[in-house]
Amino acid sequence: MAEECIFCKIIRGEIPSDKIYENKHIFSLLDNNPIAPGHTLVIPKKHFKTILDIPEQELCELIKGVKKMTMAVVEATDAPGFNIIVNGKKAAGQLVDHIHFHIIPRFKHDNIRYECPAIKYKEGQKQEIMDRIKKVLK
Ligand code: 5GP
Ligand code: ZN
Repeated sequence: MAEECIFCKIIRGEIPSDKIYENKHIFSLLDNNPIAPGHTLVIPKKHFKTILDIPEQELCELIKGVKKMTMAVVEATDAPGFNIIVNGKKAAGQLVDHIHFHIIPRFKHDNIRYECPAIKYKEGQKQEIMDRIKKVLK
């Protein structure tokens, strides 16, 4: 059954988009709610929700596409910097449940702020979280 997700519909051409590039594996378009001129999305043609769901082979193709598109966007916008952002699941701000990389050209004094104040670990918390992550990796 065809996926009902908005990006799948865009890829199938059922919804118009500002497509920039596509190949066998990926599709790239301008974000329709950009935070900077040239804000670009790169998505796999197959529907996967997050980086945890996409098979490694397809992820490699996606990352290659992200690099290609980043080079193009940076050169085209003359941006001295860029952010590559991937939101994973609702709690992290993922609104479209089809994995996508945001490429955001950045300029000095561009007024884009990602407000991320650093936290301080509580007593013993750092060691505990390290141990828990390492245990998962075993
Ligand atoms: P998320 O919060 O899931 O990481 O970001 C989803 C992004 O997709 C948002 O930046 C939003 O503007 C963009 N978006 C949502 N719907 C559409 C659409 O129909 N077309 C395009 N071009 N971008 C979309
Ligand atoms: Zn989809």
